[in-house]
Amino acid sequence: MEKVVIIGSGCAGMTAALYSARANLKPLVLTGKHPGGLLTTTTVVENYPGFPEGIDGYELMARMQKQAERFGATVKFATVEAVDLSKQPFTLTVDGEAVEAETIIIATGAGHKHLGLESEHKLENKGVTYCATCDGALPIFRNQPLVVIGGGDSACEEAMYLTRFGSVVYLVHRRETLRASKIMIERTLAHAKIKPIWDSVVTEVLEVSQDKVTGVRLKNVKTNAESVVDVGGVFVAIGHIPNTQLFRGVIDMDELGYIIPKRGTATNVPGVFVAGDCADRVYRQAVTAAGLGCAAAIDAERYLAARNE
Ligand code: NAP
Repeated sequence: MEKVVIIGSGCAGMTAALYSARANLKPLVLTGKHPGGLLTTTTVVENYPGFPEGIDGYELMARMQKQAERFGATVKFATVEAVDLSKQPFTLTVDGEAVEAETIIIATGAGHKHLGLESEHKLENKGVTYCATCDGALPIFRNQPLVVIGGGDSACEEAMYLTRFGSVVYLVHRRETLRASKIMIERTLAHAKIKPIWDSVVTEVLEVSQDKVTGVRLKNVKTNAESVVDVGGVFVAIGHIPNTQLFRGVIDMDELGYIIPKRGTATNVPGVFVAGDCADRVYRQAVTAAGLGCAAAIDAERYLAARNE
């Protein structure tokens, strides 16, 4: 039986692993389908303290894993399919096998939010994508007009990244001001290749009948005017949804699926703790996720110590 099982391998999960490994708890980290979490899909992380020149997101996560492993964490590329939190020890079904755990730290992060259009769904991976750094360099996007949808830091970052490949990058936002950080807004709007399209939403991704992206149909939300912009790729960057479906009905969460901790990182189930973006709808930064991972590991360690007394 494992003392600590950490579900998720982003900043929260890896920091929880580091702390519980250093507490001699030999944590097992189950990475999920995307080892390293969302940070591995960003380019340079410029706001993680300690890296004045910035650090590549993938490298930062690889370093965190190495650091946790150095102190005895086991990191396994595996997906949790089900959890039984009704009795101690908890049982997880991991790629078909049962794993028993005294404590669990949920650090499952968040996934990309979709627009919810049928045409978007039909053209996913045929020109519609949710990650510029993963897909932007693909030949189908080279020297093509591209569109990024969203007005936050992710949208700005994706648009900036895509200027390397696209002939022009339209940034479609449903308001007339971006909600990204000031430095990102300044950089984005100053870039010659980025053309913002304000107050607009995508109503259809064209052209399903051709089985590829040829453009987007837009609606101006102030005037209701419709237009079509020809593009070869659609990059959706409209935020995230927490990856908490596994725990629905068992762990307390809000209407959007963010887990609600009871006290510190403890959840409503004693022995189950939570950290990172799956419980944070406010800050959602790499460093806050890491901080919460540390807190969850300390809470789990204290819980185990109290149980063993
Ligand atoms: P976000 O800040 O939640 O922004 C999402 C954007 O998408 C908003 O502009 C929102 O519009 C728009 N949006 C949401 N649903 C939409 C829909 N259905 N149709 C059209 N537009 C829609 O998400 P994010 O940009 O992914 O950032 C998440 C967090 O990560 C933030 O805290 C951010 O600071 C952080 N982050 C930081 C960095 C960095 O520092 N380098 C990079 C990436 C992300 P409204 O403005 O109208 O709500």
